[in-house]
Amino acid sequence: MNQHLSDRINELPVSATLAMAAKARELKQQGKDIISLSLGEPDFNTPDFIKEAAVQAINDNYNSYTPVDGYADLKEAIITKFQRDNGLSYAPSQIVVSTGAKQSIANVAMVLLNPGDEVLLPAPYWVSYSAIATLAEATFTEIPSTIETDFKISPAQLEAAISPKTKMVFFNSPNNPSGSAYTEAEYRALAAVLEKHPGIYVLSDEIYEHINYGQPTFSFAAIESMYDRTITVNGVAKAFAMTGWRIGYIGAPAWIARACNKIQGQITSGANCIAQRATITALTAPVSKIQYMVDAFRQRRDLVLSLLREIDGFSLNTPGGAFYLFPNISAFFGKEIAGIPIQNASDFSMFLLEHAHVATVTGDAFGAPDCIRISYAASEAQLREAVDRIKQALSR
Ligand code: GLU
Repeated sequence: MNQHLSDRINELPVSATLAMAAKARELKQQGKDIISLSLGEPDFNTPDFIKEAAVQAINDNYNSYTPVDGYADLKEAIITKFQRDNGLSYAPSQIVVSTGAKQSIANVAMVLLNPGDEVLLPAPYWVSYSAIATLAEATFTEIPSTIETDFKISPAQLEAAISPKTKMVFFNSPNNPSGSAYTEAEYRALAAVLEKHPGIYVLSDEIYEHINYGQPTFSFAAIESMYDRTITVNGVAKAFAMTGWRIGYIGAPAWIARACNKIQGQITSGANCIAQRATITALTAPVSKIQYMVDAFRQRRDLVLSLLREIDGFSLNTPGGAFYLFPNISAFFGKEIAGIPIQNASDFSMFLLEHAHVATVTGDAFGAPDCIRISYAASEAQLREAVDRIKQALSR
């Protein structure tokens, strides 16, 4: 808190995922052997065919400002991708490329929300949703879910949460942090509720769409009655191991895309030229080219699930996608481990960091205070070692 800073920034919470990653990095620099399962980031390198496209773009002198909403041929590639993977038809005027899906989400919040508008957040939800809504001077209401319902909300819960101030709902499937994926039928049942409330917009964050384990993912905008009020957010970070390249995009009604273009033009301008050229190559490649990463994530999910299920006090569902486990660890609350009192998920996560040297993220950050998030986007050896350390620390 600094009195010279704006209220806006003083009141903004730091990103818990990034804060934990920074803390793990700092401890590593001090020489501590930390296994970081905090950040949601593939441990793979960007595939060579994408890197080669970037090198080519540098040699071809792609170095000037880019169009604010993205290169025309990248927008065409995104349109083809939306049609191919999601059955969604968009025109170029409906696409905006941004510096990461996070910026896409912030753009949408800034252009649609007025002070006092309310955003509904099915919980658990990604840490930055609530912060972005707050930055847009909106309020947010969590719709809780538990492991018993596979961390999904019901249509009745959605209906009950809607108020005259509700302007938007944020959906995210497969979900960060729970890994749960809504089925088409589940999404249609939620859409049936929203059909009765024409003033509510949906932000559908589909950044984990390709990281799913069998069940095909379903785009909310594919529901005809929702198309005109859904903003589909996606990007290349997770599926193509391109987190640092920072390219996200939206497909949206043209008037919303136009507004996002306008705000982006005042804040960042167009996204990085080289990363955009590489993204064309990523998105036009057959999805089978990245299947090896998805297969590895699935094996790791199964491995960590089976290992963690051996630990008393960890309650787990079987996530259908993404690369996170979200165990309910409330069985430890009110207990002491190695003389350290555990009152909540933050205490537990901190205990794991300090006594097992394993970095996780507390569920509080995701609106689910009984859980912690474990990212299994790490090598099998690291994952085995991490669970071993957790077991040992808990048995003290
Ligand atoms: N989305 C990733 C995560 O949840 C990256 C960090 C962030 O932007 O929050 O860990």
